[in-house]
Amino acid sequence: MSQQTSKIEELRELDKKHYLHPTSPIGAQQEHGPAFIFTKGEGIYLTDMSGQKVIDGMSSLWNVNIGHGRNEISEVASKQMSTLAFSSSFATFSNEPAIRLSAKLAEIAPGDLTATFFTSGGSESNDTAYKLARHYWILKGEPKRKKIISRTHSYHGVAMGATSATGIQAFRDFTNSLAPDFHYADHMSPESLRQVIESEGPETVAAFISEPVQGAGGLHIATKEYFKAVREICDEYGILFITDEVITGFGRTGTYFGMDHYDVAPDMMCFAKGVTSGYAQLGGVMISSRMHEDFTKLSTGTLLHGYTYSGHPVACAVALRNLEIIERENLIANSSQMGEELLNGFINLQASFESIGDVRALGLMGAIEFMKDKEKEERFPQPLAPMVVTEAAKRGLILRSVVFNGQDTLVFSPPLIITKEQINDMMSILHEAIKAVETAIK
Ligand code: PLP
Repeated sequence: MSQQTSKIEELRELDKKHYLHPTSPIGAQQEHGPAFIFTKGEGIYLTDMSGQKVIDGMSSLWNVNIGHGRNEISEVASKQMSTLAFSSSFATFSNEPAIRLSAKLAEIAPGDLTATFFTSGGSESNDTAYKLARHYWILKGEPKRKKIISRTHSYHGVAMGATSATGIQAFRDFTNSLAPDFHYADHMSPESLRQVIESEGPETVAAFISEPVQGAGGLHIATKEYFKAVREICDEYGILFITDEVITGFGRTGTYFGMDHYDVAPDMMCFAKGVTSGYAQLGGVMISSRMHEDFTKLSTGTLLHGYTYSGHPVACAVALRNLEIIERENLIANSSQMGEELLNGFINLQASFESIGDVRALGLMGAIEFMKDKEKEERFPQPLAPMVVTEAAKRGLILRSVVFNGQDTLVFSPPLIITKEQINDMMSILHEAIKAVETAIK
């Protein structure tokens, strides 16, 4: 056995014994060990210990927007670590990267979102948003407003509030006790939102939260009318509208933010992932200037919410350079153009395979949905998407499947630097993978 092979074996055994993986099938890990042990990332590619190079068709977790292996970012992080690795932002202490990043975010965010509360990721951002919204209503003299309404098929993370807001039932069923005061409206119907508000009592509703494009719940793209109507309903009942741009922020859908497609301004916005492209852990919540003014005017004490790593100087320095790269390399325009290529690729595949029902994309966020009978929207008894994921991985392409609520969907979210040739490579692999699955089920 070579030295490298025995090292891989050693790591596989240690992984099985000691590493409890997030959102992973524990049985498969115990039986087979980890699917990949990655050692290197470069551009749209990841390489594992055995030397296998794969296309990261998901930008890992919808987050490595600028692609892997950017030395420029590691230099910025190293410089920041050697000058000021950490200092707190509690008690009004501050640091330059956090200040400059909050100013930059105010410049690029939709509407009049002007102030940022920093967190370490998406779930913390969502929990922060619910608490800030509720605190806001306490300050405004309406303490009964505490209910949060979200959408079916939504995903907002795994912290207690974020799980409770998540519209995918399976995530909520994972635990036997959830946070109170979360309610769900049908994900494509503004009327359903109105009904939930009416039945719960408008004077008890603090906020409505929505992803601009639903990601983990199966990549559902709402119509322009949907968000226009939702904004109007929130205004009518005086409810705060929170957007969860954790996936859709920073160029993913071909605009800076997902909400830019809809010309609708939220009162609060959660972000994470693409703000650093995964080079450091950072998220945040932005609030409108009106809310910021109200907080300042009405608050008599301390804003009693904060994470040790809120405004981490290294993460903020990384984010600033990441945003500079996104702008310098026109990655948002590339996301829009390559998104069209991706959709064209899907349409070509759809013409070749009977099993493909629906295809859709907005920028570089895309989906292929499998159906046994398109007319009747009938599903296969065994979903095809997970099988295609396995076949694609064997051929060098990493993707993800969504099978919640009877769905059978493949989702895509490649790095924003992807080229037309690389999309063609993805489509060739996908073609072979779907062919293998269609043959296997015949
Ligand atoms: N919100 C959305 C829309 C997400 O897709 C995710 C993660 O995928 C989260 C929140 C949670 O983010 P994190 O995993 O960084 O806590």
